Amino acid sequence: MAQAPEKFEHAPVEGKTAIIFTDLDGTLLESDGSVLPDVVRLVRRLGSEQIPVVPVTSKTRREVSDWLQRLEIPGPAIFENGAGVLFAGGVEVSSEAIPAQTLLSILGEACRAAGVSVRPLVEIPEDELFRLTGLSPREQRDARSREYSVPFLAPASAETPLLERLRAAGSLSVVRGGRFWHLMGCHAKSGFFDLIRNRCGAWGSSLGLGDAPNDIPILQAVDVPVVISGRTGPEPELVSRFPDAYRPAAFAGAGWVEAIETLVLARLSSPVSRKPFDDGLPARRGK
Ligand SMILES: [Mg+2]
Repeated sequence: MAQAPEKFEHAPVEGKTAIIFTDLDGTLLESDGSVLPDVVRLVRRLGSEQIPVVPVTSKTRREVSDWLQRLEIPGPAIFENGAGVLFAGGVEVSSEAIPAQTLLSILGEACRAAGVSVRPLVEIPEDELFRLTGLSPREQRDARSREYSVPFLAPASAETPLLERLRAAGSLSVVRGGRFWHLMGCHAKSGFFDLIRNRCGAWGSSLGLGDAPNDIPILQAVDVPVVISGRTGPEPELVSRFPDAYRPAAFAGAGWVEAIETLVLARLSSPVSRKPFDDGLPARRGK
């Protein structure tokens, strides 16, 4: 086996040599919000190997809490694009987080000033939101329970004038997820990574998986970035920002499984080394 690169020098701490930070929608989950059985099995396998799987998502605290139960992982999990982190014992909120009602007012003012109109998620009717996301009525209630971010749909013609207004306002960030834009404070998905690694004792190798521009902070913060493709291929902005990232051939959850099996489990099977994400694997340039 080739020598491990310097980035793997951290000694294992109680076997927790590695940590996985992963987006949910379109990455670990399918675009319709469902999860593949193979993904569930793999998440549980990683738990048995004591490798933390940390969801990092634009979903709300309630949605994330629900997914932690469904995936049978204890947390932590980052919600609303880094506004806060959910631990087994409680929640920590970013000092940069801005209440959703305040953000909604700011968005309304910016739209009026720019002469454009957008559609905040909270105003999208239930049947239409189901067609867009596949979320059930109960899941929609959880998705609408925004604390520190405002997702919205914007026509292409509105993007430039609106984004200029919002970004000029300061103390705000606007990022694009799979379908929605997200208005929020100046926090990013990676904001709690160091805190999480300390709590988990996981200062070994890190792997991050994402499919959209709001996942850029995840991919920047890890040793091994993975770009997950949608049905139409990988997000061009991620491809240009991370040309050497691993790109599985399969998309969404099947791609997640492919990446974890290739980059993590293949390493665990060796009795010589339990260091995941070892070197020697050429970057794969997608489909
Ligand atoms: Mg996503």
